[in-house]
Amino acid sequence: MVKIAVEHPFTDVQRALKKKGYQADMVKRTIEAIDYDAIVVRNQNVFAGSRIEGSLVETRGRSVNEIVEEVEERLQRAGKIAGTANAAKSSSSGSFTSGVITGALVGAAAALLAAPKSGKELQSTVKEKISGDNSDDTGKLDQAKEKALQLTGQLKEKAMEIKDKKGSNGSSAGQQKGKTSAFATVPEGFRVVTVGSGNPLTEIGRNSPSTLVQFKDKYFLVDCGANTTSTLLELGLPAEKITNMLFTHQHVDHNGDFWTFFIDGWQGSDGRRALNLVGPQVQELYDTTVKFFKKDLEYRASLGTAKDGALTNVNITDFTEEHHSLELDGVKITAIPVPHTAPTYAYRFEAEGQSVVISGDLAYTDNLAPFAKGADILVLDGMMTGTFSALSEKAAKNLRDGLEGSHATTEELAKMAADAGAKKAVLTHIGLGGIDTEYVKKAFSDANFKGEIVPAEDGLVINP
Ligand SMILES: [Zn+2]
Ligand SMILES: [Zn+2]
Repeated sequence: MVKIAVEHPFTDVQRALKKKGYQADMVKRTIEAIDYDAIVVRNQNVFAGSRIEGSLVETRGRSVNEIVEEVEERLQRAGKIAGTANAAKSSSSGSFTSGVITGALVGAAAALLAAPKSGKELQSTVKEKISGDNSDDTGKLDQAKEKALQLTGQLKEKAMEIKDKKGSNGSSAGQQKGKTSAFATVPEGFRVVTVGSGNPLTEIGRNSPSTLVQFKDKYFLVDCGANTTSTLLELGLPAEKITNMLFTHQHVDHNGDFWTFFIDGWQGSDGRRALNLVGPQVQELYDTTVKFFKKDLEYRASLGTAKDGALTNVNITDFTEEHHSLELDGVKITAIPVPHTAPTYAYRFEAEGQSVVISGDLAYTDNLAPFAKGADILVLDGMMTGTFSALSEKAAKNLRDGLEGSHATTEELAKMAADAGAKKAVLTHIGLGGIDTEYVKKAFSDANFKGEIVPAEDGLVINP
C-alpha cells in the first residue's frame, strides 16, 4: 500500500487523501518523511538536497483537489498506483512531464546566471539537472537531453526573459514548473488567496501578511508584506495585473513590499497604467514614495514608460473619517476602524450576494461581528493562535504578553467568528511555529462556531 506524508498543518489535504482510501500521515519534520512514496509539502525548496525519495508535491497556490490530483498523478507515473488509461488522463500526464522538463531547464538556466561556468560545464549542469529531476521518465529523457543541449546556448536569454517577468507568453515561475496556476481559471464569484500568511518576524516559507481578494477577473490586493510581489508572480499573477491596492494599516509587515509592487508593476510597456490606492495614510505613503523615488521614476519614464499608473493616474482614497464605502470594479467595499496600535481598518467586499471580510490586525472589538455578519470567508488576524514553538518558552511568553492588547486571543477570535456566523474563518498572520490546531479547534467549538476553520499558508487558495 502506498504511503503519503503530509507536512503539518495541512489537515484538509490529509483528510481528502484518507477519504480516497490512502494512508496519509501527518509529519512535522523532514526526517519523518523518508520512507514515504509521496510527500505533500509547503515548499519543496526546503527539501533540496535531502535524502527524501518520494515525490514532492507543493501546496503553494493550489486548492486541496489540485494537490490530491497531483499526488495521484505522481504515484501513477512512479508506477505505485494503477493509472486510468483514458486519453484525457494520459494527455494531462504528458503535459505535466514536459512541464517538469521545462522546469529543470529553467532551473539550470538560473544556475548558469548565478555562477558563470565554461560551455562544457554548462552542458553537464543541464544534463545533470534533467536526469536528476526526471529519473522516472526515461522514455522522454533522451529527447529532452538532446533538446536541452540545443538550447544551452539560448539558456541565458531564456533566464533573462524569466527574470524580466514580462516574457511575451506571460508565463510565471509556477507555470514554468508545470504546475497549474491558481489564476489560470476565472472564478464565478469571489475567491481569496493568502499570499503571505506570516507576521513581522522573517521566516522561511511564511512571508509577511498579504491577502488577495479576487472577484471574477478583478483583483484587490489587501496589504503588501515582504515578498508579496514575487510570491504573486510565482502563483501566476504579475503585479501589473493588480490595479487595486488596499491597506489595513501602515505597519512594515503590511507594506514592506509596496515599493516593489508599485514600481515593478508599473514599469515597462506592459505595466499597469492606473492604480487605486485605498486605506489609512495612503496619501502619505504615495507622496513619500514619489518624492523619494522622483529621479528613479523619471528615469524609467524617460526610457519610454508612460507616467500613468505611477506619476499620474493614481486614484487615492485616504481614510480620514470613521466609516467608508466605495465601489471598485463592480465590488462594494466598506471599511470600519478596528483597535490596533496604528490606525487600522477591517474591509468587507460584497458582490452578487457573496461577501469576504478581512479583519486587519486587531484586538477584540464588538464591532467586528456585525460588520462581518454572514461572511462567506472571514480572514482573521491569527497572530495569537500560533504555537510560537520556534522560540524558547521564555521568549514566547514575553512575545505573547507584548502582543496582548493589539492582537485578539484565540478565544476572542472564536467569539468574533461565531457571532458573525461566518462560513469560513481563515487564520492568517501566524506566529513562528504554525497554528496550535488542537487548541484553536477547541476554542472555536467552545464558542459555538459552526463554520470551517482554515489555517492559512502562503499561496493558499480559499473558495467560498
Ligand atoms: Zn500591525
Ligand atoms: Zn501585522
